[in-house]
Amino acid sequence: MTDARACEIRSTCPYCGVGCGVRLRPTGDGGLEVRGDPVHPANFGKLCSKGSALAETLGPEGRLLSPVVRGTETGWDEALTLVADRFRETIGQHGPESVAFYVSGQLLTEDYYIANKLMKGYIGGANIDTNSRLCMASSVAGHRRAFGTDTVPGTYEDLEEADLIVLVGSNLAWCHPVLYQRILAARKTRGTRLVVIDPRRTASCDGADMHLALRAGTDAALFNGLLCAIHDADAVDEGFIPSVQGFDDALAAASSDRAEVTGLSENDLAAFYDLWIRTPKVVTIYSQGVNQSSSGSDKVNAILNCHLATGRIGTIGCGPFSVTGQPNAMGGREVGGLANMLACHLDIENADHRAAVHAFWESPRMAAAPGMKAVEMFEAVGDGRIKALWIIHTNPAVTMPDADAVTSAIAGCDFVVVSDITGANDTARLADVLLPATAWGEKDGTVTNSDRTISRQRAALPAPGAARPDWAILAEVGRRMGWHDAFDYATPAEIFREYAALSGIAGKLGRDFDISGHADISDSRYETLEPFRWPFAGERSGGRFFGDGRFYHADGKARMLPIRYRPPAAKQGPRFPFRLNTGRIRDQWHTMTRTARSPRLAAHLAEPFLEIHPRDAERLGIAAADLVRVESTQGSAVLRARITDAVQPGDVFAPMHWTGETAPSARIDVLVAPVTDPVSGQPESKASVCAVRRFEAA
Ligand code: SF4
Repeated sequence: MTDARACEIRSTCPYCGVGCGVRLRPTGDGGLEVRGDPVHPANFGKLCSKGSALAETLGPEGRLLSPVVRGTETGWDEALTLVADRFRETIGQHGPESVAFYVSGQLLTEDYYIANKLMKGYIGGANIDTNSRLCMASSVAGHRRAFGTDTVPGTYEDLEEADLIVLVGSNLAWCHPVLYQRILAARKTRGTRLVVIDPRRTASCDGADMHLALRAGTDAALFNGLLCAIHDADAVDEGFIPSVQGFDDALAAASSDRAEVTGLSENDLAAFYDLWIRTPKVVTIYSQGVNQSSSGSDKVNAILNCHLATGRIGTIGCGPFSVTGQPNAMGGREVGGLANMLACHLDIENADHRAAVHAFWESPRMAAAPGMKAVEMFEAVGDGRIKALWIIHTNPAVTMPDADAVTSAIAGCDFVVVSDITGANDTARLADVLLPATAWGEKDGTVTNSDRTISRQRAALPAPGAARPDWAILAEVGRRMGWHDAFDYATPAEIFREYAALSGIAGKLGRDFDISGHADISDSRYETLEPFRWPFAGERSGGRFFGDGRFYHADGKARMLPIRYRPPAAKQGPRFPFRLNTGRIRDQWHTMTRTARSPRLAAHLAEPFLEIHPRDAERLGIAAADLVRVESTQGSAVLRARITDAVQPGDVFAPMHWTGETAPSARIDVLVAPVTDPVSGQPESKASVCAVRRFEAA
């Protein structure tokens, strides 16, 4: 046992933004043994059901093993030459805005960095966006508006030091299970109170003191009501307010809202407000229920307003805390993987920032303005403005809102490249060129989790067939497009050093993200790099930001924003009387490319379903396990009815994992309208409207 453990390889779980450390031991037959890393600061050895089943989700079945051009297997040389030539020709004829990359929070930071550098610094456009746009873009926008940068102030330790934890639009028990277990453990030892704010009763409510089942989309009104209650109770932190601008306007806007729109009783509202106000150490965790909304950024700022008004930010056991869905959503934010950001939290709209990155890269050109965000990007693919598209490790034909229209758009695009581990998903089938990429367990680099901890992912298995790391594929295309020196990398460590050096320039420009202490890291130190949390150089407030009252706006102050509640964009009515909420289940990950391989994960919830309230089911003549047809303005799906009072009358819920491969009639995002938050561009995936009826076979 001792010898076997000495041979273990330390890595990071890819199945959510908690970023748990894992220890891997090759079994010799192409598989791995996986256990939790007892010293990783995210999980201290614990794993959830997905992490425990990691080894079962690997394997050669269905892997893309060689490049494929229009259905025919070929070599790398032919495929990459074609990709480079088509992108260069398209840019030559139609300009840099005619091409786009759609990437993923599954990418490692080094992959992301190269994709961003190639697009923004060398192609010279900014049409690179990521599936993280569907996940946490509203939190990014809210942070930038309030703090001046996209800074997550807190740490996981804060969850164990808080006296009250509020989960808003977050089923942490299923979507970030190890973090939820840390909270439950703290409840045992220090009696931490737990409040869940969610229209739906989820597994996270099982361990909670209070569940506020508010009306869908009314979170901003709820937190506006809290801001007023803070003021009325004389609980504003007058010592912290000099660090903040906009208090009076924010309070005036909040006062004109009515918390009754939440549908919560006066007693429940008063109990929650009273608990929040009289508990000094509060952490408010929020996730997709807040972000995936046409008013997501405002919801985020309504939450931040309450923490800023009370100075409950940046100190032990206090703060707002946006948790990320994907393993490297945070790393993507750090390298400018979003169309409206530059690397290292520099702003694409800021001429000084653009000039600094341009000079650092010594690039021939530089994107001058934000590019298209995901929904707009696929609209531009559909109407022909984007003529060459490279999709990397994501499945937009399933996961984008209005998924049927997105599928048609990709199918009609002049030139589509897909890099992935499989050539058989709904998106890969539409590609002109398929490029085989290495999978988790085969690739090397870094990821950043929800509390800004950067950890290594390490290879423990050889790459199958001709599969290559994403950074290597992207860099080779860069070289073939003519930029030999700029993309001359041999290892991910070289990329990490360059990225760390750029972060030092960002630090000098007053940005929060600075890991320049690693700019000279040796290959061997990179190999043994331990998890660390940024800021790395010039640590402030013991790893928490803002406890000193200094923020990243030019005047050093935070901003409280005047927020007014806005209802979801789509209105319920006689034709579409139901509000459709979409989300995840505990044991599947995204479109199930890997997690569907594990029988024990599949056993949790084996088929797609629609949760509907007993009263609605009775009215519509729907019995338990009946098939139901769900229709919206965008499309229709057939699902198995689960009759439960976990959803409110008038609301329905369906999971988002099933695809054209696994359940062709149950793709949920074909129902979701492509409505977005005007600030963040994040789609409203949790508040479409639909009709439901019993399915009658033709
Ligand atoms: Fe993996 Fe997330 Fe589970 Fe941790 S909590 S083991 S990172 S899926």
